[in-house]
Amino acid sequence: MQTISLLGATGSIGRSAVDVIRRHTERWRVKSVAGGSRIPELVEAVRATHAKQAAVADPAKLGALRAALDAAGCHDVEALAGADAVEALAADPETDAVLQAIVGAAGVAPTFAAARTGKRLMLANKESVVCGGALLMKTVAECGAELFPVDSEHSAVFQCLAAADPNARSRARIILTASGGPFRGRKTLEGITPAMAVKHPKWSMGRKISVDSATLMNKGLEVIEASWLFDFPEDRIDVVVHPESVIHSMVAFEDGAVMAELGDPDMRTPIAAALSWPQRVSSGVGALDLTRVGRLTFEAPDLETFPLLELARETLRRRDGSSIVMNAANEVAVAAFLDERISFTGIMKLVEMTTERFSAPAPQSVEEIFAIDVEARTRAAEILSVSEFFN
Ligand code: NAD
Ligand code: MG
Repeated sequence: MQTISLLGATGSIGRSAVDVIRRHTERWRVKSVAGGSRIPELVEAVRATHAKQAAVADPAKLGALRAALDAAGCHDVEALAGADAVEALAADPETDAVLQAIVGAAGVAPTFAAARTGKRLMLANKESVVCGGALLMKTVAECGAELFPVDSEHSAVFQCLAAADPNARSRARIILTASGGPFRGRKTLEGITPAMAVKHPKWSMGRKISVDSATLMNKGLEVIEASWLFDFPEDRIDVVVHPESVIHSMVAFEDGAVMAELGDPDMRTPIAAALSWPQRVSSGVGALDLTRVGRLTFEAPDLETFPLLELARETLRRRDGSSIVMNAANEVAVAAFLDERISFTGIMKLVEMTTERFSAPAPQSVEEIFAIDVEARTRAAEILSVSEFFN
C-alpha cells in the first residue's frame, strides 16, 4: 500500500487521478489533498479519497475550509491553508509519493519540496520543470527522488526510452506529437474568444493549458520539459503535428527504429503509468480501436502563425533564466486573455515582448527562480499597461 499526497486535486488532472486511484484502493491511499482556492471541490476531493488532510493555497480560506469540512461531516480531517501548507504536504515524510498537478509556476516550491524528500514524484506540473531546469534535475538526482512524467508526451517518451539501454539516448531523437490545437490550419488568429480557445478538439483540460495548446506555447513548454527530463539537447527534439492525438510521442533510435506509445487521448493512461510503473494497472481507459481511428496524419507545425514554439526553443538554447521569464509572461498573458483584457494574438505579443526586453541569468537557487518569476510578472504587467494588446 502506497500513501499519496495529491496536489492540485480539484483540477482536471487531479480529478482524473482520483478516478484512477479509486479503482485500486488496495494499492494506493490518498493521505492529503491540496488545491488553490475552490473550497467545495476540495471538500469533494476529500470525500472521494478519504484523505486525512486538506490544504488550500489561499491563506484567507482556512476558516471557510474548516467550516465546509465540518458541514460535510469530515470533522477528523485536518484543514490547512497557505502556500507553506501545500509545500509541507509535498514534503510530508509519511507519504510515499506525490502527484503534483498544480497549474503554473505556483508548483515550483512543492515540486522542489517533494524532490528533496527523495520520494516518487509524479509530475504533471510542467511549469515547475521549465522553471526548475538544471537545478531541479540536480535536486532529483542528489536526493534520490524517482521522477515520473505525467504529461502525456513525456510519459510516452519515458516508456519508449525504456526500450533501449540508457547509452542509446545520446544518439536518439525525441519526436513530440502536437494536436495543433483548435486553430490548426488558420492563417490569421483575429477575433478568437476565450470560449473558442479553451475548446480543445482532442483533450479535456484546465483553462490555462487549453489556451497554451491553442497558441502552441504548450508545445514550447514541452520541448523545454523534455530537454530537462531526459537530458536531450534542443536540436534533438522534434515536433510533429498529429491531429488525431493517438500517438502520444516517439523516440527515434540510430538504427532507424522508432518507438511510439499509442492510446486514446485520456490522461488516466499516463497517470496510471506514473502510479504503477513498471507495473500496469487498469485506468478506466478503453482499448484503442485502430479501425475506428482509421487514419493517422502528420504535418509540420506552422511556426509563422504560432511563434511561441520557436521562442521556447530559443530560451532553451540560451540556458539562462529566460525560460522562466517566458513562462511568467505567458501566465500573465493567458490570465489577461481569459479576463478579456487582451486579444488572443496579444498573448503572443506580450510573451515575446517581455522575453525580449528582460534577460535573466541562470538561477543558482530556488529563491533565484522565484525572484526571476516575480520580476518577469512585474515587467509583463508594465508592458501590458502601456501597450495596445487588442487588435
Ligand atoms: P486545472 O486548472 O484544471 O487544475 C489546477 C489545479 O491546481 C487545481 O486543483 C487548482 O486548485 C490547483 N492550484 C492552482 N493554484 C494553486 C496553488 N497556488 N497551490 C496549490 N494548488 C493550486 O489544471 P490541469 O489541466 O489539471 O493542469 C494541471 C497541470 O498539469 C498543469 O501544469 C498542466 O500543464 C499539466 N497538464 C495537464 C494536462 C491535462 O490534460 N489537463 C495534461 C498534461 C499536463
Ligand atoms: Mg502534453
